[in-house]
Order: sequence, then C-alpha cells, then structure tokens
Amino acid sequence: MPHRPKVIIGNWKMNKTIAETKSFVAGLALAAKESAFQIGLAVPFTMIDTAAKTAEGTVIRIGAQNVADRDEGPYTGEVSPKMIQDAGASFALIGHSERRRYFREDDAIVNRKIKGVLKIGVQPVCCIGETQEERQSGQAYSILKRQLLHGLDGLEKEDVASLIIAYEPVWAIGSHQVATPEIAQETHAFCRSVIKEKWGQQVADRLVIQYGGSVNPMNAAALLAEPDIDGLLIGNASLSLEAFTNIVLLHV
Ligand code: PEP
Repeated sequence: MPHRPKVIIGNWKMNKTIAETKSFVAGLALAAKESAFQIGLAVPFTMIDTAAKTAEGTVIRIGAQNVADRDEGPYTGEVSPKMIQDAGASFALIGHSERRRYFREDDAIVNRKIKGVLKIGVQPVCCIGETQEERQSGQAYSILKRQLLHGLDGLEKEDVASLIIAYEPVWAIGSHQVATPEIAQETHAFCRSVIKEKWGQQVADRLVIQYGGSVNPMNAAALLAEPDIDGLLIGNASLSLEAFTNIVLLHV
C-alpha cells in the first residue's frame, strides 16, 4: 500500500482582514503542533505576507488562491508566480471552480498557471470537479479526465507526482451537500487511474488527491478514512478557528 501524506488546506476565499489573519494563524499554530496532517492555508494575496510571517517556525504552509498565467509585464491587476513566492506562498490553488465559473478560466489557462508555478518551485493545487448536471447525465468521469489530461498536459512525471489534485465536485462546494465517502473514494480512484494510464503507476501512487466540498468537523473523519482520499480542501469551515482546529486534530 503506497504511503502518502494526508494534507489539509483551508481556502479562505475573499474573507478576513490582516488582524484576523494574525490571530487565526497564531491560534492554528498551537493546534498544528499536535496534528497528524500537513496543514496549509490558501489566503487572499494581501494576506500572504502577514500569514507567512505569523506562520514562521511552524509547520503551517501558506499559499495563494490564484496566480497569473504570465511571468511579468503589462497585465494590470495580475499577480505573478514570483510575486506570490516572494510574499511567502509555497503553493497556489489553480483552477478552483469559482475561478472557472466567474472568471472563465479554462483548461488551457489552468495548464499555463501550473507550468508557471512549477518552474519556480511553487506547488500547484490543481482543482477539478464536475457540475450537478454533468454528474446526473453520466458525464462526470469524462469531464474529470479532460480536466486532468488538459490541465496537466506536457508535464513530466516528477512534476505530476509533486503536485496536489483537489477533487471538488461543483455541486458540493458551499452547498452543505458533501459527497458521500463512497462517491468521493470511487471518484478519487478514477482520477488516480487516469494519472496511472498517462504517467505510470509510481506517479499515481505518489500523487496526493484531496477532496473538497462542504467538509466540516462532523464529516471529515469518514472522508479521510478512505484509501484514495489523501486530504481535504476546506472552504467555509476553514474560516472558523474552532472548526478548522477540530479537523486538523482528528485522529484517522
Ligand atoms: C472550496 O471552495 O474549496 C470549498 C471546498 O468550499 P466549502 O468547503 O465551503 O464547500
């Protein structure tokens, strides 16, 4: 049985001030000492520096929620891979369903962003997921396969093994409609099989695949107990220090 770390990442989305960031990260640092998981927080761009400085000397990693698909230049309002790294981010969420939906990010953009961060040693967390209609019409697996093969197109084996995939069914995000552990496990196993077919068994065995979508302290343990669920990406429940701490302190 391949041994993979379990990774828990909070995604704050467009929430929290600098003062709130400082006190949250300081509080989480206490729990992180007792946690069996790798822990990350994906914070707004303006909070990366504060969060990273507050997390210094702890095991908490700070990441961005997005990044530009260009290295530098006249792209007003964009923030480059080097800039997020310079501010203290060691990973970046890429292709979150809210970015795909509201900002029209497609697989080609996701692919450019993944290559851009990998080039400088920032870890991509590539988010994929099907909509309710796609699942109901039996297209979930073909959508996920397309997102994986196009999003990771052109990557070497070592790069694929080093990144994180976050399977986040769109119907489960912010909906209180968490996927059952059985559905999540089956879908993760499918995603791993797609990776195996294209990049080989060793890469598939090493790849961390997280689940995301309405995770809370009550349902997290059952998801984490599944063999192909290597961690969780958590939105709403990561805004509460108490809820997030309860999840990172679970024993699975
Ligand atoms: C997310 O947006 O990545 C997410 C998983 O959100 P929530 O936990 O609120 O469903």
